[in-house]
Amino acid sequence: MNRIRKTLGLMMAFVYCASGGEQTGDAQDRGYDLLRERMVAEQIEARGVTDVSVLEAMRKSPRHLFVPEALQYRAYEDNPLPIGKDQTISQPYIVGLMTALLEPKKSDRILEIGTGSGYQAAVLSSLVDSVFTIEIIESLGAQARRRLAALGYGNVWVRIGDGYRGWPEHVPFDAIIVTAAPSRIPEPLIDQLKLGGRMVIPVGEANQELQVIVKTVDGLRTRSVIPVRFVPMTGEIKK
Ligand code: SAH
Repeated sequence: MNRIRKTLGLMMAFVYCASGGEQTGDAQDRGYDLLRERMVAEQIEARGVTDVSVLEAMRKSPRHLFVPEALQYRAYEDNPLPIGKDQTISQPYIVGLMTALLEPKKSDRILEIGTGSGYQAAVLSSLVDSVFTIEIIESLGAQARRRLAALGYGNVWVRIGDGYRGWPEHVPFDAIIVTAAPSRIPEPLIDQLKLGGRMVIPVGEANQELQVIVKTVDGLRTRSVIPVRFVPMTGEIKK
């Protein structure tokens, strides 16, 4: 954390000198641009996410605008960060990995369960046609909706409620991403997935695995990718 703060400070100083004047908002943005470039190169690309469109989407998504203001300088660190209400914004690598595992296409309609800060939805928005995202905690959902609108993400729709039953008005989905961990796959979400569509979801309680599920004519094809640690999915799944 100190290292990043120092790096950011140095970058700011550099930009300050280079611009020969007051450190403006532009200079600060440039500092974050540099940190973000480095985050994508060192944390995401170097660890094997190679899809160029995913890397590009992460390069242009201003992660620091999706964390509480007091934590902005830490937004490009290699870890999750608290976003209030005991919830977290996922580690950048996990966002990149999950986005790549979804294999997003320009024409896709995506469902996300667990809006949180709205960052994952923002990353997806430039890669697909539309993103429908559901958040169970009202204040987080409302904040994400305002933030996404203010930043001009016009193809992301935020709904406040329990994602367990998906979003029937917009079925079927080409892909579904779940960013809170249920102990088992919510059946209604499988029903809302297109044939051939994929779901990326952390499953489990103390020990969770990131799974990719493909819906085929013969049933579900499931693959475990890596162990992960997400906040638990709450609501109806717990009953
Ligand atoms: N994708 C988010 C991070 C998600 S953290 C981001 O980019 O910032 C997980 C989120 O899932 C939390 O905000 C939590 O409140 C939400 N959540 C948990 N259970 C849920 C449910 N049943 N339906 C919708 N959202 C849920």
